[in-house]
Amino acid sequence: MEQKIILKESDIPRQWYNLSADLPTPLLPPLGPDGKPITPDMLAPVFPMNLIEQEVSTERWIDIPQEILGILYGWRPSPLKRAVYLEKHLKTPAHIYYKDESYSPPGSHKPNTAVAQAWYNKEFGIEKLTTETGAGQWGSALAFACKLLGLKCKVFMVRISYDQKPFRKIMMQVWDAECVPSPSNQTNAGRKVLQESPDTPGSLGIAISEAIEEAVTDKNGKTRYSLGSVLNHVLLHQTIIGLEAKKQLEIAGEKLPDIIIGCAGGGSNFAGLAFPFVLDKINGADIKIIPTEPEACPTMTRAPFAYDFGDTACTTPLLAMYTLGHAFVPPPIHAGGLRYHGMAPLVCQAIVEGLLEPRAYHQNKCYEAALTWAGTEGAICAPETSHAVATVIDEAVKAREEGKEKVILFNYSGHGLMDLTGYDAFLSGKLTDYSLPDEELEKFTADLKALPKAQTRKSGKW
Ligand SMILES: *Cc1c(COP(=O)(O)O)cnc(C)c1O
Repeated sequence: MEQKIILKESDIPRQWYNLSADLPTPLLPPLGPDGKPITPDMLAPVFPMNLIEQEVSTERWIDIPQEILGILYGWRPSPLKRAVYLEKHLKTPAHIYYKDESYSPPGSHKPNTAVAQAWYNKEFGIEKLTTETGAGQWGSALAFACKLLGLKCKVFMVRISYDQKPFRKIMMQVWDAECVPSPSNQTNAGRKVLQESPDTPGSLGIAISEAIEEAVTDKNGKTRYSLGSVLNHVLLHQTIIGLEAKKQLEIAGEKLPDIIIGCAGGGSNFAGLAFPFVLDKINGADIKIIPTEPEACPTMTRAPFAYDFGDTACTTPLLAMYTLGHAFVPPPIHAGGLRYHGMAPLVCQAIVEGLLEPRAYHQNKCYEAALTWAGTEGAICAPETSHAVATVIDEAVKAREEGKEKVILFNYSGHGLMDLTGYDAFLSGKLTDYSLPDEELEKFTADLKALPKAQTRKSGKW
């Protein structure tokens, strides 16, 4: 039995998979400020037209340009590994496999889309990308991609992370990106916030507003904005993960997995692994597919399905999704990448259909799982990834109790070597668990009632 299955470069998938082609009920359209569906040209100041075409495409397969593959070969195809030591430790008959996305230079799955987005922007004649970042994983991935493709990159980093988490900021600077704390005095949005509250720790919502403003106000029209998750084209670029995994499981002599697991912040690493298998489920396969989130930010498990803005400043189109409300202020849990108020519309529609079974975990249980992982498989996982690991352990124990040889596949979305302060807090007993109280949930989602209603439509097959 092989502990890791490595594909040759020549075996890399040549096309991305687009779930929009196969969803039994199509996505609700994004809406503009007037409540009417937006048109592609309304997005043109923010994104290049080639990516807007991918955003609205319902083609099942989309070719991956050769030059993008050329850069991805730096770490792809990523290994599929079997967690044999964790299996032994848990005395489970389950076969546990994982895609190791921590191999990329920035250390997570995020460069899969960063490279693709930078390439399409360059192809369209764009010279500079702007974005926001919280803990810095997305900012460092985009900085990396822009550097390799010769684009300028400017990252608005949430003030408190800029001050408290210097290492990812330094990575961005090594890759030549300009990283400024947000709110900054370089945009109207930033100056306005600074005037009202000079000592604000900042937020992702403010940083998004600043990054979009900087892109759309470039007089030469050579700057665009880039988003690291949530949108259809971002999830599309990540499906290379699941398509590789399919080939690798076949080489390992497995049929389709019984259970697929990924942590979900905006939904991109989960969707990247799961969507090619969601197609099998739509076609009749019996697969349990679980996206996992924190109890402190329970978007998929407790929030309403509604139209909402993607950012706090209400500048983006309205998206139909599970949402805690654009004004949601997440409690300071350490999994910085899992604190977004919304969730990818494609993931949400698959939940509405009953194709996915979302779950939420407390952070102490996740760090315990991360230590079990480090003590068996050796690697130190990202705090986000620990949510997937906790789910895997629960499902493997269940397989033992039921005496079933289940095949479990999960996405190891990144390493935690830049996030050791979270481990430090856990080891010194300083982490507390937090469930979002019902009153808080109601408070943050109250505004949604004034927005257009999102219908829940489903085929009733699952
Ligand atoms: C950003 C991040 C996530 C969460 O983002 P998704 O879009 O939901 O994948 C999860 N894991 C790691 C390691 C990340 O960097």
